[in-house]
Amino acid sequence: MTNGLFTPRKSASSNDRYEMKLNAEDMAHVRRGRWKADITDQNTGKRYTVRGAACSAPRCLCDAVVVKELVCN
Ligand SMILES: [Zn+2]
Repeated sequence: MTNGLFTPRKSASSNDRYEMKLNAEDMAHVRRGRWKADITDQNTGKRYTVRGAACSAPRCLCDAVVVKELVCN
């Protein structure tokens, strides 16, 4: 994941995905396992809180899911 493409699920109960572009600073937050970070989609300027999530493999946490969209004033 070096090109900044980030495709978290839209929610824990959804299989739809966002297609986001992240800068290097935000990409550094995205990893396997348990994590949570506020990131900015460089395509839209929108900010999201995202966390690590289980994929379809047992005990694997390589996926990501959006917790909420952050509204900035
Ligand atoms: Zn996985």
